[in-house]
Amino acid sequence: MTDTTADAKTENRTFEADVSRLLHLMVHSVYSDKDVFLRELISNAADACERLRYDAIANPALLGDDAKPRITIALDADKRELTIEDNGIGMNHDELVDALGTIARSGTKAFMERLEAAKASESATLIGQFGVGFYSAFMVADRVDVTSHRAGSAEAWQWSSDGKGTYTVAPVDAASAPARGTRVVLHLMEDAKSYTERYNIERIVHANSGHVPVPISIIEKPGAEPTELADGAALWTKSRSEIKPEEYTDFYRSVAGQFDEPALTVHFRAEGRHEFTTLAFVPSARPFNLFDPGRKSRMKLYVKRVFITGDAEILPHYLRFVRGIVDSADLPLSLSREMIQTSPILAAIKKSVTGRVLSDLEKLADSDAEAYGKIWDQFGPVLKEGIYEDHERRDTLLKLARFRSTAQASETRRSLKEYVEGLKTNQTAIYYIAGENQAQIEASPHLEGFRARGVEVLLLSDIVDNLWVTYNPSFDGKPFRSVTQGAADLAAIPLLDNTTETKPEANEAVTDFIAFVKLTLGDAVSDVRVSDRLTDSAVCLVAPEGGPDRSLEKLLAGSGRAVPAAKPVLEINAKHELVTSLAALDGDNAFKEDAAHLLYDEARVLDGDRPADAKAFSVRLARLISRGVQSAKG
Ligand code: ADP
Ligand code: MG
Repeated sequence: MTDTTADAKTENRTFEADVSRLLHLMVHSVYSDKDVFLRELISNAADACERLRYDAIANPALLGDDAKPRITIALDADKRELTIEDNGIGMNHDELVDALGTIARSGTKAFMERLEAAKASESATLIGQFGVGFYSAFMVADRVDVTSHRAGSAEAWQWSSDGKGTYTVAPVDAASAPARGTRVVLHLMEDAKSYTERYNIERIVHANSGHVPVPISIIEKPGAEPTELADGAALWTKSRSEIKPEEYTDFYRSVAGQFDEPALTVHFRAEGRHEFTTLAFVPSARPFNLFDPGRKSRMKLYVKRVFITGDAEILPHYLRFVRGIVDSADLPLSLSREMIQTSPILAAIKKSVTGRVLSDLEKLADSDAEAYGKIWDQFGPVLKEGIYEDHERRDTLLKLARFRSTAQASETRRSLKEYVEGLKTNQTAIYYIAGENQAQIEASPHLEGFRARGVEVLLLSDIVDNLWVTYNPSFDGKPFRSVTQGAADLAAIPLLDNTTETKPEANEAVTDFIAFVKLTLGDAVSDVRVSDRLTDSAVCLVAPEGGPDRSLEKLLAGSGRAVPAAKPVLEINAKHELVTSLAALDGDNAFKEDAAHLLYDEARVLDGDRPADAKAFSVRLARLISRGVQSAKG
């Protein structure tokens, strides 16, 4: 929106509605940490320098005789002003309006929803993650003037706003603008005047921006000489022994836009066929966009310390939580989009970095199971995607995988190596039960026969579990088998209580009863048979051999994908008192038919489903209860 004012050249514009809302949130929320605004402005200044460096590869004239990137912070306590200036790419008129008047990002809506819901302590993290950084200036300033001179352009422009819904854009004299780049002047609020104190700025820069790849200097007061606060040397070029843990943490925070501690740091230099350096981190907290549909790796690609792109997808989808950089010495600086996709050098780098991250995770798992367990808790569901997506590394990923199981208190996790070490006599498979609800699968009747034999069953309750198990993985030559599918084949494995009889035998009456149930249920089930997986419960449902497991079927149905539902098998516990007494009952087929349907419904309910036909179910149940009441009266 534009209207004409007294000064014909000044445009008055209104912020896009989203920006206004965001600004309102910025100004009116109580942040625990307003310092983040400086990190955001420095990061923008550094981005601008890096973009210039990149554009200058194709067009060296853009640099002129001022090739060295720099960021200068100037303080003026008397005027209560803080200025952040860079000699980066700069913005022209349209770029100013676009970048500082709108929010182009689709993630912003989500951001604002989260910001409104977030605790104050999380807000700062959210600001960084969602890239709405510039507007954070209005947390400390009641007016912000941005003067910018686009590299290669003859004009300079000034953007100005009090953050209350409107802003102005006007041309300015080139002499009062930076020769190239952007100057952001914050007119600080009364309670933000400490941001004109040198030690304060120094502290924030060291804590948050010490590792931006552009040198930062400070001018303490008007007329003073600039002094250097940070040298802009890329941390990753130093050797590991020279770097302090807190330097790694700072760097991690600035590259990841997260405020947690890295849970694992992977720093190495590859020499030989391809020369490159990687500095990558596994966060300790989940990044907010971990489950974005794109599932893209956010590792940044540098070539000879020049930032090239954050879109090179250096790591596979299942390592998308890893944050950091790769700096190649061999790739050309002018790396086109197409080359990023096809470059054999980049392919080799990706392979090597992926392998290194996985092997460092493996090492951590061996040396510090507890620390590794925390990583797995956060990122296990993501890593498990690799079991079906990365055939080549399936074994490595299965080795890294940790599972809850019936052999452990639900807090601790088991590795497959531990599982295989605990195999019982005659046990040939790795058993699992999959479902969405941990408590429900743990209480599932299907586990009874396994518990009675001390056979460990993995409890899989991540959505992704339903997927990878269908890819027929095996570990150490042992296939994975669902305890809710097919015959359990448990008879060969001895019971824990040493009773010799492990094969459930049905007497003649029970065999007849089973045939009766099958006839009664007709099409509802594909079979009714004696179970060897039940000890306490009377019945359970299992999926027939070959088809999808029942939990996968439900998952697919829930996600709207039609699957031809495989009719389940009803398994009956031939030793259960309910079954034997029903079987012993002569005649009264009407009653036995009710019982057959109710047993089937019971099995469905145990699986977390509803009775097959709610109306018929309630009629049968009512009949049964009144019969019980009759016989109780004698
Ligand atoms: P982000 O940095 O995540 O893109 P910001 O809100 O921090 O989001 O900045 C918005 C946009 O404003 C940037 O993408 C950039 O185009 C522009 N911008 C901000 N500061 C500068 C600057 N110092 N030099 C050039 N462009 C800038
Ligand atoms: Mg920014």
